[in-house]
Amino acid sequence: MTREEIAQALGDEPRAKMRGRQIADWVYRRAVADWAQMTDLPADFRAQMAERWSLQPLEVARHVTSTDGVDKLLVHGGDEQVFECVLLPYADRVSCCLSSQVGCPMGCRFCATGLGGFDRNLSAGEMIGQYLMLQRLTERRISHVVFMGMGEPLLNLENLVKTLRLLHDEVGLSYRHLTVSTVGLVPQIYELAELKLPIHLALSLHSTNDEIRSQLMPVNKRWPIAEVIEAMRAYSRATGRKITIEYLLLAELTDTPTQAAELARLIQGMPSVVNVIPFNFVATEESFKRPSRERVRAFKTELKRRGVNVTERVERGHDIAAACGQLAGQHAGRFARRPTSSALPVLS
Ligand code: SAH
Ligand code: SF4
Repeated sequence: MTREEIAQALGDEPRAKMRGRQIADWVYRRAVADWAQMTDLPADFRAQMAERWSLQPLEVARHVTSTDGVDKLLVHGGDEQVFECVLLPYADRVSCCLSSQVGCPMGCRFCATGLGGFDRNLSAGEMIGQYLMLQRLTERRISHVVFMGMGEPLLNLENLVKTLRLLHDEVGLSYRHLTVSTVGLVPQIYELAELKLPIHLALSLHSTNDEIRSQLMPVNKRWPIAEVIEAMRAYSRATGRKITIEYLLLAELTDTPTQAAELARLIQGMPSVVNVIPFNFVATEESFKRPSRERVRAFKTELKRRGVNVTERVERGHDIAAACGQLAGQHAGRFARRPTSSALPVLS
């Protein structure tokens, strides 16, 4: 809820407007989850509210900390359908990675979440709740948010936009520090472009060849590469933002010099950066492989030679299965989700 919605929900409470502002300040800006700590509210009001409203809709099913300082929470909203969120501290900033759905219906063949099936969309409360829980784990302020956890955010557009607005209006984050990653749902990309929120949009492209991309990502059969790139160009024009192209490197499949050259051509003239992601091992029927360091370097060099801005996703939290869907996959025995494939999540 926004501060206005909180005030409204307080009904005929005296000074509802001010109370709404105070509560929003405690909950969103200071990440407080306990009415007793809201010391500028009258004690009897706090006691009353504690009976009526829960400030903590999520429960932690598991909390793991990696050797490189990454915290990962496996949470649920009482229904025992688990989803993941990750705290990512860097030297110059603290970022976090949130889930938008429990599971994902898009069925990408290399993805632990996609292979695990789909349960439901997350509410805006469950999304911002992940942020607030992670904020409580650190003294530093989380300034950046990426929607790269479980799920396809653009399939949950209404709640996603509500969450983005809460992160901006109530938590106080810059839209420029919010990133939404999509598998490439063309109509929703145009819809988001129309809202003109200056957030960062990242496209999971992963191949420049329609045949290969369709094998990896069923969504490509509906919206092939040319259409999704056109939509991303429109998004960039509408918002003035640079586009991120995420590019998964699968050995001998998507990491070829031909596709590097095609990629450079495909995004020519579009303000963009390519983020290459060496495959994070997931056991699948296809037995995808992570490319060697030499092949990753060669792919990047080929792009750079053609004038493309390239970054590489640094893998973190490897020892805690921090990649998309991996921890929830390990947990499937205890909080059963509906698997759609026989593929097993990796147990590293
Ligand atoms: N559904 C959205 C956002 C969540 S996935 C999307 O697909 O874009 C976040 C990113 O992790 C995507 O780029 C996805 O392709 C990538 N990813 C999924 N499984 C992976 C794996 N096994 N190794 C490396 N990256 C993976
Ligand atoms: Fe869903 Fe993204 Fe995984 Fe594809 S990569 S199955 S869209 S979470």
